[in-house]
Amino acid sequence: MMKQWTLGTCGLLLGALVVGGIAVASTSESDRPMTPDAAIAELMAGNARYAEGHMQSHNLPAAREGLAAGQAPFAGIIRCADSRVAPEIVFDQPLGDLFVCGVAGNIPTSEIIASMEFAVAVLGTKAIVVMGHSACGAVDAAIQHRHDTSALPGTLPGLIDQIIVPCTNNSDPDDPGALAAAIACNAHQGIDGLMRGSQILSDGVKKGDLKIVAGVQDLASGRFTLVEGH
Ligand SMILES: [Zn+2]
Repeated sequence: MMKQWTLGTCGLLLGALVVGGIAVASTSESDRPMTPDAAIAELMAGNARYAEGHMQSHNLPAAREGLAAGQAPFAGIIRCADSRVAPEIVFDQPLGDLFVCGVAGNIPTSEIIASMEFAVAVLGTKAIVVMGHSACGAVDAAIQHRHDTSALPGTLPGLIDQIIVPCTNNSDPDDPGALAAAIACNAHQGIDGLMRGSQILSDGVKKGDLKIVAGVQDLASGRFTLVEGH
């Protein structure tokens, strides 16, 4: 099925996008969270299942036919590139239910913002989670090089600079709590980045059609904890 989607509020034409069978998803229609609060509640419930070792998402071969027909992810996740972070596993969700973008430091780059706009405007995603994690090497690098990133190799300075301001400027590398505080701060700053960077996303939040939250996954316990106000 080909559909043309015009986003009237901002005059954007996303073009002839193949969004085959939006109503078809890996989660049955009746189970799909239909509100932002329900979407976040399902993610937190899935994380509790993961942390306690009672996961329900097994991605059986029988699900593939439905997945091939289309997707309707109820949540978007901005994750770090870290190999220990996998949203489908950590939130115990099957393929097709999460729209995941990843970059070291889980920062909302312009490409990630655009991807989330697609998820919300075209696929009907109800919540976006900026997902930090404990022991994040990108945030640690931002603390260690907070005065000057130019010693970092390759193009890393351009990435790490986006974490330094404003979350690690005042960090004391000798403070054992500095990394955890900066990780939480960096994740929470992602909310502002999405709101400032996208009319589509900020309008969705204002209308109550979308919720954007941030949190931190503890690698040792598996628990994901929402971060409030930074
Ligand atoms: Zn990381």
